[in-house]
Amino acid sequence: MNEAFTGKNNTDEVIKAAKNAGAIKDMDTPLIRLVDIHKTYKMGDEEVHANDGITLDIARGEFVAIVGKSGSGKSTLMNIIGALDVPTSGSYILNGIDTGRMSDDKLAEVRNKMIGFVFQQYNLLPKLSVLENVELPLMYQGVKEKERRGRALEQLQKVGLGDKANNLPKQLSGGQQQRVSIARALVGRPSLILADEPTGALDSKTSKEVLGFIKQLNAEGNTVIMITHDPSIAMNAKRIVNIIDGKVTFDGSTEEYAEL
Ligand code: ADP
Ligand code: MG
Repeated sequence: MNEAFTGKNNTDEVIKAAKNAGAIKDMDTPLIRLVDIHKTYKMGDEEVHANDGITLDIARGEFVAIVGKSGSGKSTLMNIIGALDVPTSGSYILNGIDTGRMSDDKLAEVRNKMIGFVFQQYNLLPKLSVLENVELPLMYQGVKEKERRGRALEQLQKVGLGDKANNLPKQLSGGQQQRVSIARALVGRPSLILADEPTGALDSKTSKEVLGFIKQLNAEGNTVIMITHDPSIAMNAKRIVNIIDGKVTFDGSTEEYAEL
C-alpha cells in the first residue's frame, strides 16, 4: 500500500457519524464524498468561515449545480472538489480514496487525470492553436503526439469546431472559445467535469448553446458539477445544492428547487 494512505486517520469514524446523523446515505463509493468540510481563512484577527460544515455525496453520472450568492463559498468548495486546495478540516473522499492522505504530487496527479475544468474566462493559452490547447491535458498525461493530435481533433469535432483547429483562440468568439475549453476538459476522459460559472462571460443566446453542450455531455454519462450564482442557470442541472454563508441550505432535485 502507498505510504501516503497508511497514516492514522479518523475518516471512517467521521463517515459513520455522518451516516448515523442521516447527513449522508449509505451509498456504495460515491464519486465524491464531502464530510463536514470546513475552510477557514484568517483575516488579521478575524476568521472567515468560507465553508462551514459541508457534507454531501455525489454519485457518478449526476449533474449537480452548486448555487449561491457571491461570497457564499462556492469557489472555495470548487477548489476543494477540484483538488486545487485542501480543507481546514473535514474529509474529502474522491472515488473511494481519502484526499487528506495524499501528497501534493499525488493530488496533482489525481487532478490531472480525474478532473476536467471549465472556467468562466476559458483560460486558453493565447499563443497556442486551438488544437494545441485541447492537447494540453494529454501532454501532462504523457500521451504520445500522434494519439494526442487525433484525440484532440476528435474532441474538437464533437463540439463542432474541427475546422478551427489551427486558429488562435482570439480568432474565435466567446462561445466558441468556451466550446474549446469544454473539448480540453473532456479530452483526458476525466471522471468529473467541474465548471465554474461556465456561462458567466457569455450573452444569453451563447449561454444556451454552451449549457446545451454541458447537458449533452452529462447525457453521455459524464458527471458534471456546475458552479453558478444564477438560479436560472442552475435549473439546467438535475440536482441543486444551495449554499449560504458556507452552509448547504438546500439539496434536492431541480423540480423541488423550482417549487421553493
Ligand atoms: P463565492 O465563490 O461564492 O463568491 P468564495 O468561496 O470566493 O465565494 O468566498 C467565500 C468567502 O471566503 C468570502 O467571504 C471571501 O471573501 C472569503 N475568501 C475567499 N478566499 C479567500 C482568501 N484566499 N483569503 C481570505 N478570504 C477569502
Ligand atoms: Mg466564486
